[in-house]
Amino acid sequence: MTTVGTAGADRLARLQGALAGADLEALLVTALPNIRYLSGFSGSNALLLVPAAGDATLWTDFRYATQVKTEVGAGVRTLVEPNSLWGALLGTLRESGAGARRIGFETEHLSHREAHRFLDEARDAAALTWRPTTHLVEALREVKDADELARIRTAVAIAEAALERTLPTIGVGQTELEVAGRLEFELRRAGSEGFPFECIVAAGERSALPHARPTARPIAAGDFLLIDFGAVHAGYCSDLTRTVVLGPPSDRHREIHDLVREALGSASAGVRAGMRGRDADAIARDYIARGGYGEAFGHSLGHGIGLEVHEAPRLSSTADAPLPAGAVVTIEPGIYLEGWGGVRIEDDVVLHPDGPEVLSRFPRELVSL
Ligand code: ZN
Ligand code: ZN
Repeated sequence: MTTVGTAGADRLARLQGALAGADLEALLVTALPNIRYLSGFSGSNALLLVPAAGDATLWTDFRYATQVKTEVGAGVRTLVEPNSLWGALLGTLRESGAGARRIGFETEHLSHREAHRFLDEARDAAALTWRPTTHLVEALREVKDADELARIRTAVAIAEAALERTLPTIGVGQTELEVAGRLEFELRRAGSEGFPFECIVAAGERSALPHARPTARPIAAGDFLLIDFGAVHAGYCSDLTRTVVLGPPSDRHREIHDLVREALGSASAGVRAGMRGRDADAIARDYIARGGYGEAFGHSLGHGIGLEVHEAPRLSSTADAPLPAGAVVTIEPGIYLEGWGGVRIEDDVVLHPDGPEVLSRFPRELVSL
């Protein structure tokens, strides 16, 4: 956490530039990943008010009184509030109420109840205007700095180490739940702070469910086994998928796996910063369609990763936004055949200005256990 102070100050300055551009005098940040990005604070309860110029203010509660001191760096004043954070925030705004105040709020990260509280406040204080905003901090988060990239690299390495240790322990007769438990143990043992999402372990016909939950189904010879999981390091996530087969693969296993692997290869080599998300998506989608399985690839190609496992930018057939240089995205084509099984392979890729770099090194070839 040593670099949070400087990185945080730089991030706050960039947000303040964006606030001036949006004609806002301040932004109330309520999304915890956005608060962590801007201030370094990783607790579960906080509000952050960022003015267009000057220091930001962060409110949290007694549980985090010690932690907030070690995590929050330059440019953020911290207040430990014994009662309601919202009450404290509104009180502060009331006291500093002279002149017109145009304060943005994050429409995607606020409950209806909280929204009512401050809309009522604005009605009482005529000088206060709340303005809905979207994606102000998320847009900054799309572009990773060197510190963030280093954290994601470590999260990828942890996930790969865990998978490497888990695969030799998998055998016929184990349940999906047992495999998920072993993988979670190995993730922790390799240093993961937690799990960015519940590990997906899906065997046989269940591997055709793109977001299957592990069950007590025993793994049988001839099953595909789809494993989608990630690690968390210093707050940052990785997200990987491999599909293995139990016993010798059939021709159909090979055909489907080869097609997905080649689609991933063409997309991870062909994706570029500046390309629209939909054009990146199309590289893999067209490849799979040419192989005759276009109908069997129904989800988008990938998503950004960072403090959250699903964040901007999106690689999907409806994503018109260009992919920024410095983004880290997943590329995860799949083919899902209902009643038989499916394959997904997923890697994490940095979009450097001069081309993509695949962060994950785990072999993509079909492994039989
Ligand atoms: Zn995944
Ligand atoms: Zn993913």
